Amino acid sequence: MTQKFDAIVIGAGQAGPSITGRLTEAGKTVAMIERNLFGGTCVNTGCKPTKTMVASAYAMHQARRAAEYGFAYAGPITADMKRIKARKDQVTLDSRLGIEGWVNGMEGCTVFRGHARFVSPHKVSVDDETLSADQIFINVGGRANVPPMPGIDQITYLTNSTIMDVDFLPAHLIVVGGSYIGLEFAQMYRRFGANVTVVEKGSRLISREDEDISHSIKAILEDEGIDFRLDAECISFSPRESGVCVHVDCSSGDRSVIGSHVLLAIGRRPNTDDLGLDKAGVAVDARGYITVGDDLRTSQPHIYALGDCNGKGAFTHTAYNDFEIVAANLFDGDNRRVSDRKTAYALYIDPPLGRAGMTEAEARKSGRNVLVGTRSMTQVGRAVERGETKGFMKIVADADSKEILGAAILGASGDEVVHGILDVMYAKAPYTAMQRMVPIHPTVSELLPTLIAEMKSIR
Ligand SMILES: Cc1cc2nc3c(=O)[nH]c(=O)nc-3n(C[C@H](O)[C@H](O)[C@H](O)COP(=O)(O)OP(=O)(O)OC[C@H]3O[C@@H](n4cnc5c(N)ncnc54)[C@H](O)[C@@H]3O)c2cc1C
Repeated sequence: MTQKFDAIVIGAGQAGPSITGRLTEAGKTVAMIERNLFGGTCVNTGCKPTKTMVASAYAMHQARRAAEYGFAYAGPITADMKRIKARKDQVTLDSRLGIEGWVNGMEGCTVFRGHARFVSPHKVSVDDETLSADQIFINVGGRANVPPMPGIDQITYLTNSTIMDVDFLPAHLIVVGGSYIGLEFAQMYRRFGANVTVVEKGSRLISREDEDISHSIKAILEDEGIDFRLDAECISFSPRESGVCVHVDCSSGDRSVIGSHVLLAIGRRPNTDDLGLDKAGVAVDARGYITVGDDLRTSQPHIYALGDCNGKGAFTHTAYNDFEIVAANLFDGDNRRVSDRKTAYALYIDPPLGRAGMTEAEARKSGRNVLVGTRSMTQVGRAVERGETKGFMKIVADADSKEILGAAILGASGDEVVHGILDVMYAKAPYTAMQRMVPIHPTVSELLPTLIAEMKSIR
C-alpha cells in the first residue's frame, strides 16, 4: 500500500532537515528518508570532523613551536590518534544527534531509514514501502570519486569517509589529489607525525586558484616536510608488503612512491546513480548532477534538487543556501535565486585560504580594467604578533565600476577576514566604501583598506 504525504524529502544532509522543518511548520505532512547518518557528509565525514582534527593538528604544531613563543615543553610531541579520533567522534556525534533529535521531534514528519528510489514522478520506494507526495525534495549529496585507475582494485585505499575510522598513525600517507580535501588531510597528518606525499596529476596544486596562491601554499606545506609529486600523468597502484606503491609516471617503471597508506582525494560525484531518476523523468547532466533552474526546480516542476547533487555548489553553505532559496520562494513570496549567490569558500590548511568571487586570472579573462592589490602577511601587525606571517592577501577590483571582483586571503584568520570583503560585495558597494571604514587595531582586517589603497592596474 502506498503511504501518502504532502512532501517527501530524500537525504538528511545540509538542506533536507531545514526544508522538512519549514514544511512541517506550514502544517504539511512530510516523509524524511535517510539511508545512513543524519547530517550527511558535512557532519559525519566532511567539514566537522576534518576541522576538529585540523584543530588537534594546529595545537600540536604550535606546541612544537614552544621555544619561539618563549616556553619550554618537555618531551616529544606525539599524536595519540585514539584520543584525537575520540574527540572528533564526540563532536560529530553531538551534531548528528542534535539534527536527528530535531527532525524526529517535528510534528507531521515521519522518518524512514533506508535507501530511497523513485518508482514514478510522484512515488518513492524505501525498502518495501512505497510513498507518494505532491512535492519531492532531493538532498542526496555526493561521495568520494574513485575512478577505475590501474591497480586500484589490488590495493586497500582510504577515502574521506573511511579515514574517519583510522585510530592509528600511518607511517607514510600518500594523498592522491592536491586539491582542497587532499591538502587538508596532508597537513593534518603531517602535523600528527606521519610522512606525507601528495601526488597530483596537474602541474600545480589547487589549479582553480591563481598561480601565486598555488605556489605559496606548496611552499608553506613543503616547509612542514610534505613531499609533492606534481605532473603525475599516469597514476597507478600496486600492493607492497609494507603497504602500497603509487606509480606516478608512465614513461618509466621506477618513478614511484611507496607508502603505508593511500588516501584518494580526487573529487566527488553525486549520489544520483541509484536514485531511479529516470523513472521520475528528472534530467541529469553528463556527470550525473541533477539539472536545475535558478529556483532549484528540476525538469519535473514538483521536484526540487538541493545541495551538492545539483552541481551548483559543493559546500555546506551553498547547500544550506539552496534550502533558503526554495523556502523563500515556497513560503515567503521572496524570489531568491541561485544566481544571487557569490562564490565563497575556504581551504582549511594553516594558514587558511579564504576566497570570495573571482580569481585574478578570471578577472583578467573577463576583459575588465582590473586593479590588483597584494600584501604579504609579514606586513600585517597582528600576524607578526601572533607569529603567523605565512601567506599573503590579494584583492581584485574593477577600475571602472569600482566593484570588488574577488579576494584571496591566505594567512592568519583568512577564512574570517575574507567576510569583510564578501559583505561589501553583497552590499554592491564600491571598493571606495571600504577605504572609509575605521577598522579595529590590531586585526588582520585592519589592513584591508590599505590593501585597497595600494591596488594597481595590471594592464
Ligand atoms: C573531507 C571534506 C571536507 C569538507 N569540508 C567542508 C568545509 O569545510 N566547508 C564546507 O562548506 N564544505 C565542506 N565539505 C563539503 C560539504 O561536506 C558538502 O558540500 C555538504 O555536506 C553537502 O551537503 P548536502 O546536503 O548536499 O549533502 P550531504 O551532506 O552529503 O547529505 C546527503 C545525505 O543524503 C543521504 N542519501 C544519499 N542518497 C540517498 C538515498 N538514495 N536515500 C536516502 N538517503 C540518501 C546521505 O546518506 C546523506 O546523509 C567537505 C567535504 C568533504 C568530503
